Amino acid sequence: MISAFPKLSFNLAEKMSEVCVTGGTGFIAAYLVRNLLQKGYRVRTTVRNPDNVEKFSYLWDLPGAKERLKIVRADLLEEGSFDAAVEGVDGVFHTASPVLVPYNERLKETLIDPCVKGTLNVLRSCSRSPSVKRVVITSSCSSIRYDYNSPERSPLDESHWSNLDYCKKYNLWYAYAKTIAEKEAWKFAEEQGLNLVVVNPSFVIGPLLAPEPTSTLFVVLSIIKGENNKVYPNSRMGFVHIDDVVEAHILAMEAPSASGRIICSADVAHWKEIVEMLKNKYPMYPISDKCGAEEGNDVTHTMNTSKIKNLGLANFKSLEQMLEDCVKSFEGRGLLQNLP
Ligand code: NAP
Repeated sequence: MISAFPKLSFNLAEKMSEVCVTGGTGFIAAYLVRNLLQKGYRVRTTVRNPDNVEKFSYLWDLPGAKERLKIVRADLLEEGSFDAAVEGVDGVFHTASPVLVPYNERLKETLIDPCVKGTLNVLRSCSRSPSVKRVVITSSCSSIRYDYNSPERSPLDESHWSNLDYCKKYNLWYAYAKTIAEKEAWKFAEEQGLNLVVVNPSFVIGPLLAPEPTSTLFVVLSIIKGENNKVYPNSRMGFVHIDDVVEAHILAMEAPSASGRIICSADVAHWKEIVEMLKNKYPMYPISDKCGAEEGNDVTHTMNTSKIKNLGLANFKSLEQMLEDCVKSFEGRGLLQNLP
């Protein structure tokens, strides 16, 4: 399925080119924008609602933003919407995709379509722009780790795919959407000869950069605050620091030898272990203490991360570091005040 894509004939890092990051209001995208500006790139990022200025105006305060950042409107569900954003850029990071949405009857419109059709929409724009030399998509370990026999398949590596029947059986709709989106992306890239590299991060934790937590940081904050009747997820997964995820994306774009899928994950743990760590370090917070009853997400597995290590990410930051950086930033923003 994954073909050997043509190697870059130059090093993007040396050219200090212009790149596009989709979904600039997102947790991962905002850090990518920050680090790319730090490295001297000219950066375009997309937002779907440019009127919602409070959501992204902090991006203008990033060093280099006033001189080298452009914010462009684009929506995953509007065909051709990304044409202007990617026209003339050297590389595209496609990170925009819904993460936390209510699992209700609108799931197709709110999660599956923006994830799957949105990815193809972005790729079609990229294929219409001859300047684009490489596209890096943020997929997920969710498109790798779910199957009936994950313990026996472990250590999981880039050759493994989540089983769509398993995802359906256990209502793992995010994993379902990410798996289909990634498979469709590889098919499209192969057909069109697009130079695609995919990063598959596990659950990302780190300090808050945006004004409000979204995505996985929202989940961590809810658990620390003891929301949802103090229930934490009955799930086991890999965890990874945002700094490592951003470094992996930049390596995936810059390294001429980067290709295929790239797992980015530090430690696999059950949420009960995360909760224990939080309770020991932060006994003053009403941390969730009841394990959820959902099934199918507590899959024992290990991950082989040699590919990203060989590409240059020598050491992952620890779980302790991820949580410490995250909680410190919540405290700094006053998000953990006046809790019961
Ligand atoms: P996030 O903070 O929730 O950001 C998601 C981004 O997608 C937001 O910018 C959001 O824009 C945008 N988006 C959603 N629907 C859209 C639409 N219809 N049109 C245009 N933009 C849309 O999530 P994140 O954690 O940074 O995740 C970013 C990517 O990483 C996703 O592809 C996710 O699947 C992947 N990933 C995340 C993790 C993790 O642990 N966080 C792990 C593995 C992979 P709005 O602000 O307008 O909603």
